[in-house]
Amino acid sequence: MTDTEKKNTLSGSLEKARKILSTYHGPKIRIMEVCGTHTHEIFRLGIRSLLSEDITLISGPGCPVCVTPVSYIDEAIFLALEKGCTILTFGDLVRVPGSKMSLQTARGKGAKVQVVYSPLDAEVWARTHPEEEAVFLSVGFETTTPSSCIALEHAIREDLHNFSLLCANKTMPAAYRAMMETTDAYLYPGHVCAIQGLSECREMLALGMSGVVAGFTASELLTALAVIVKKTQEGKPFLVNCYPRVVTEDGSVQARELVRSYMQPCDSRWRGIGTLADSGMELREEYAAYDARKKYQLPEMNGREARGCRCGEVLQGRITPKACPLFGKGCTPEHPVGACMVSSEGACSAFYLYG
Ligand code: SF4
Repeated sequence: MTDTEKKNTLSGSLEKARKILSTYHGPKIRIMEVCGTHTHEIFRLGIRSLLSEDITLISGPGCPVCVTPVSYIDEAIFLALEKGCTILTFGDLVRVPGSKMSLQTARGKGAKVQVVYSPLDAEVWARTHPEEEAVFLSVGFETTTPSSCIALEHAIREDLHNFSLLCANKTMPAAYRAMMETTDAYLYPGHVCAIQGLSECREMLALGMSGVVAGFTASELLTALAVIVKKTQEGKPFLVNCYPRVVTEDGSVQARELVRSYMQPCDSRWRGIGTLADSGMELREEYAAYDARKKYQLPEMNGREARGCRCGEVLQGRITPKACPLFGKGCTPEHPVGACMVSSEGACSAFYLYG
């Protein structure tokens, strides 16, 4: 096939997908974008405006910063202000409100907070600042957890004693099960599936939950959504991998082995949702010296969400951000009240920027 023929075929398929999505009329189809990057890309590409009114997109809990609980921010602030640790973190977390303040506000009270771009950057920072006690805020899903484990591996190899992780890593299956009520089909997160393969989506299929694994380009997203609409009309639960150039049946066995060697499943608190059994990852006992909670004997924190913030309902797809009375009034990206307005993957910030 020549390049021109390929282009014509692609534009023909896209036109077909667009038509399916804009002309569908029938029982309402509720599709949850589990992944925050999907939420933002769908808005940014203007895909929402193409959809027939019988298709509803629901933004789900797949933004790692958004689901990180208030108590985790409180723990980080405690480590910085009470224990004198230097907090190393991705930029988004700095502005997320804790019970009393954010890390940004804590900076004004003397907290040492460094923004890094990867866990390995954090490990290098600790190595080059031996006089500091460095704590990396390890958050994220199956996609980012392996890189925290690589940083830990380096720290162990270098015999670093001033580096530890404050873990709030999460895994998706418990969230998939918790969100079933509000949705008819999942747009599964392509990055997570690239690591985990398709087995977890198959488990959901066995529970009667439909879904499509989706990539992130305009054509991948349009195709995935159109497949959901077509397959839903057949009336049987389905699973389709629409991202085969990246997602394979088995995913990355190597990445999963790496994580298993340093971490184990644990119950985990999700902002606004509560504690989900076996939905988090913590360091194994043999690596306790690198576990900030154990190393600094962190007390139990019972964080309080900001009054009026409805992030919990937004993250569960029960309301849209616009239904929150604070949206765009008391809460904006410049002055966020909740995590969903801070993060570049958050539903509230997507609705604010594009909606
Ligand atoms: S608009 Fe702000 S206050 Fe409302 S749910 Fe979103 S983040 Fe929370």
